[in-house]
Parts: sequence; structure tokens; C-alpha cells
Amino acid sequence: MSDPLLLIISSPSGAGKTTLTRRLLQQLGQELRFSVSHTTRTPRRTEVAGQDYHFVDPDTFRAMVAEERFAEWAEVHGNLYGTCMSEIDDARREGRRALLFDVDYQGARQIKAKIPAAVGVFILPPSLSELRARLEGRGTESPESLERRFAKAKEEIEHYPFFDYLVVNDDLNRAHAELHGIVHGELCRRWRLADRAEALLRE
Ligand code: ADP
Ligand code: 5GP
Repeated sequence: MSDPLLLIISSPSGAGKTTLTRRLLQQLGQELRFSVSHTTRTPRRTEVAGQDYHFVDPDTFRAMVAEERFAEWAEVHGNLYGTCMSEIDDARREGRRALLFDVDYQGARQIKAKIPAAVGVFILPPSLSELRARLEGRGTESPESLERRFAKAKEEIEHYPFFDYLVVNDDLNRAHAELHGIVHGELCRRWRLADRAEALLRE
């Protein structure tokens, strides 16, 4: 069995990556594993510890950095976020076809530097005004946090050339269909299925 597809999903805050990721997980179920990050951010009302994030204090996070337990980590919007190396090992062990990372562009760059076969998807909002409306509508951020996230949006979008795919999340159903198409297209790469072809040739 080939290694799982490592699919990195990034976007400015509020563009819809959590919504799109959840849909993909619902649809692909056991085939897909979601990489649960560690963060020092306080949990939102709707978030479940261990499912959305592993919520830890800054000392614990720093100790994990010192122990080299992260495949990547970064400071984003004033909080620390990191992906444990064990996520990749677990996805392999479980025989998952894909492992999904919801990380910012700094994390995306670190993962790609370590594993060049990883695939990056950047989610774009239809407009900056819609991005702001979505952040406000989500109702999860304090006014300061909302301003900080919105102020960073353009800076994050500037990193789009680093990604393999862009998905504009205007209509949710269409954006989901595009993301779904990317996953399936990547799973059909020749090098992923070459063993199957070679086995037929040996028959
Ligand atoms: P992110 O994870 O990128 O910060 P979310 O997935 O939390 O963004 O989405 C931000 C808000 O926008 C949420 O309230 C979500 O329900 C809403 N949203 C996501 N996609 C769409 C869309 N295509 N059209 C309208 N609202 C959307
Ligand atoms: P939020 O606080 O809205 O959940 O996430 C804020 C930002 O942190 C988003 O851009 C999200 O992709 C990013 N993020 C979440 N987990 C990680 C991680 O493990 N590593 C990095 N580098 N960024 C992360």
C-alpha cells in the first residue's frame, strides 16, 4: 500500500477551511484522517478537545518543541500551533488513504520541506468583505482577535503561489466538489497506483 496522501489545507481565517474539511471527513470517513494539532489557543464553545485540537498551555507546548515532537509548528495570530510527528505515523499504521492538515502557510512550507510529495490547497474567500462578514458571522472572535485575523488576511493570501491548488469558496457545494475532486485526482496519480499495474503485468 502506498503512503497516505498528505493534503495541506490553508486559508486566511474565516475563508471556510474548517467547514470544507469537516464535509470532506463526513464524505470520505475512514479513508481520511484529520491531523489534530496542538494549540495554546483557548477552545471555542463548539470545539471538542482531542477532536478539533489538543489544547495545551504554553509551557507544555514549549516542552514538546524542545523534545522535537512536532513535524512543524508556528505562531499564528498570537497563539502557538503545531502538528505532531505521530500524526503521520498513525495515518500510515491505520492504512488511511489520506491525511488532512489544517495549517497556516508557515506550517504548509515546513511540511512540504520535509515531505515534498505533500499537496497544498489554498482556500480563497470570494472577496475580502465576504471574508470579514464570515468571520463576524461565526461569532467566535473577540473584537481584537477578529481585527488581528482580518488584518493578516492579505499577508496570508500573498503566499498563494506556494500552493498546488486554489479553491474559491464562494458557493460551498461547488467548493466542496472541487476539493473532493482534488483528493481523488491526487489519489489516482500514476506513482500511487504503479504497483497495481505492475502486478497485472506479472500475472
Ligand atoms: P476557517 O476555518 O477558514 O477559519 P470556517 O470554516 O470557520 O473558516 O468558516 C467561517 C464562517 O464562514 C463559518 O461561520 C462558516 O459557517 C461560514 N462559511 C464557510 N463557507 C461558507 C460559504 N461557502 N458560504 C457562506 N458561509 C460560509
Ligand atoms: P484557528 O485558531 O482559527 O483554529 O486557526 C488559526 C490558524 O492556525 C489557521 O490558519 C490554521 O490553519 C492554523 N493552524 C491550525 N493548526 C495548525 C498547526 O498545527 N500548525 C500551523 N502551522 N498552523 C495551524
